[in-house]
Amino acid sequence: METDYEKIGLKVGLEVHQQLDTSAKLFCNCRPELFKEEPEITFLRRLRPTQSELGQIDPAAYFEFQKGVKILYEANTATSCLVEMDEEPPHPLNMEAVEIALTAALMMKAKPVDEIHVMRKTVIDGSNTTGFQRTCVIALNGALRVGEKIVPIEHVSLEEDAARKMGEEEGNMIRYRIDRLGIPLIEIATAPVINSPKEAGEIALAIGTILRATGKVKRGLGTIRQDINISIPNGALIEIKGVQELELISLVVEYEVQRQLNLIKISEELKKSGVKEEEIIEEFFDVSDVLKQTKCKVIRKALDKNQQVLAVKLPRFKGFLERELLPNFRLGTEMADRARFWGRVGGIFHTDELPAYGITAEEIEELKKVVKAKEQGAIVFVADTPENARNALKAVVERASEAIKGVPEETRAANLDGTTRYMRPRPGAARMYPETDIPPTKITEDFLKEISSRLPELPEQKLERLMKEYKLNQKLAKQVLDSEYCELFETIVKESGVSPTTVAAFLTETLKALKRDGVQVEHVSEKQIREIFKYVSTEELAKEAMPDVVGWLSKHEDKTIQEAINSICLKILSKDELEKVVENIVENNKELVEERGMEAFGPIMSRVMKEVRGKANAALVSEIIKNKLKQVLLS
Ligand SMILES: [Zn+2]
Repeated sequence: METDYEKIGLKVGLEVHQQLDTSAKLFCNCRPELFKEEPEITFLRRLRPTQSELGQIDPAAYFEFQKGVKILYEANTATSCLVEMDEEPPHPLNMEAVEIALTAALMMKAKPVDEIHVMRKTVIDGSNTTGFQRTCVIALNGALRVGEKIVPIEHVSLEEDAARKMGEEEGNMIRYRIDRLGIPLIEIATAPVINSPKEAGEIALAIGTILRATGKVKRGLGTIRQDINISIPNGALIEIKGVQELELISLVVEYEVQRQLNLIKISEELKKSGVKEEEIIEEFFDVSDVLKQTKCKVIRKALDKNQQVLAVKLPRFKGFLERELLPNFRLGTEMADRARFWGRVGGIFHTDELPAYGITAEEIEELKKVVKAKEQGAIVFVADTPENARNALKAVVERASEAIKGVPEETRAANLDGTTRYMRPRPGAARMYPETDIPPTKITEDFLKEISSRLPELPEQKLERLMKEYKLNQKLAKQVLDSEYCELFETIVKESGVSPTTVAAFLTETLKALKRDGVQVEHVSEKQIREIFKYVSTEELAKEAMPDVVGWLSKHEDKTIQEAINSICLKILSKDELEKVVENIVENNKELVEERGMEAFGPIMSRVMKEVRGKANAALVSEIIKNKLKQVLLS
């Protein structure tokens, strides 16, 4: 059934974060790049929020802090200096980044501020070494036309990217790499005026196209991250962080609406059942004895380690935990997410999904007796250390009371399949205070005039030009424009002389299809793609073999096109070699040729191509076959 989003009253706002392609970081001269090698430098810090921050901080960060979590920072000297380590004050604002941000801002008709004030925003999850993120507004109140709609752009800002988390927490230590810390990010925030999943996707794409038109943004996975704010009446405002794929945005919005509608329905039914929030209480039962003979491996393992099985009852929740909010995603999933986050447990067991996992019906009956659960109640239990198990069940109880109320406000993180997971409670308004180490930067009239005088062409102008200059049809021109390869397209056409339509189709449709098939296209550099087209233009590589070459290169980084060609035996066949192949196949199909004359061309062609695909130009093959057939038939 079609969902009527207008009737639902959906409101979506986007925050697009994109790394800029500058020669240095935002507040120092380090190279804005990530490194793959082992770190040259490591240092250990503790999360240590100051007293004044404690009132404002994110409960999740405070929780980490209480746990005494330590952070191991990793760095190398090419990509980090004393600034990233917070041992030296930040240098003045990188004006190259300001210029790019102003360019994008002016293209979206935003009004630049007179003076840039760098602010500190409290963030104490360990993703920076200072306890805050530096951010500054560059322009305000823009407008972007997308189709028939004018989308208000609330602000265009510059901020420093955060350190990147390496792997999962080990013991009570988190590893962060500070190479990414300080890479300039542009942030563009729309007003919450988006009313459907499809529109959210289109607007994110339009913003991305403007950013790429500046020619100064980074490319590839992880360089663009979109946060999405979603709300519906009677639901909640949910912030979803870190959607990295543009294609996922509409699905994420669609799923979130579905999730909230189902949570609202569950809340109504729970209320109707007569359950009261006061009945959902933190009363935990040690049920280790009930399960001491269990065949369930997870519980067995925990008990062998002298851990505990703790249980809690949720009156009248029977059946609700297994209710699907999304395909394969249940209210029980949300409780498990919370338990994992706050209790660091592997997961939870609940009676809606039992008997299963080696837990028997008899054990469940016994469990019910011990916790004195009523017929309509559900039981949730966890096997872990007493402390973790208690924290996990507390989180389950909290989530259960929220289920009675409706949709809890929270910050969620995007998964790769479009679903989301609990990330943390929604923090209060971000606490900002001035960065006293950096003086305000004036944006002068002259500077603005200079930037305005050389603004890149707007996407709609570029579309027109692509169609006219390269004779692309509208669909293909739009695909090129929307892809991240628009500039590359023009470069390749100019330097290789390969037909624009071929280049465009390859950069859009072929690469997309490869990606869908799981090929990591982002491992193949632009330089390599340009090189591939040079081989095509000199006929050293057949057009048809390009996908195979890309596939091979994606798995063999730092190798050359020639190595790819050699390794997958794609060396193009000479005319002589081709003639031999054709002669053989015609010889083997003598009867067919005698019987059908020139009409044997089709079947012969397909048999030859089967043998030489990727190693020969189809037009040349066709010519050789025609000549050969004529020769045979005339003799
Ligand atoms: Zn630095």
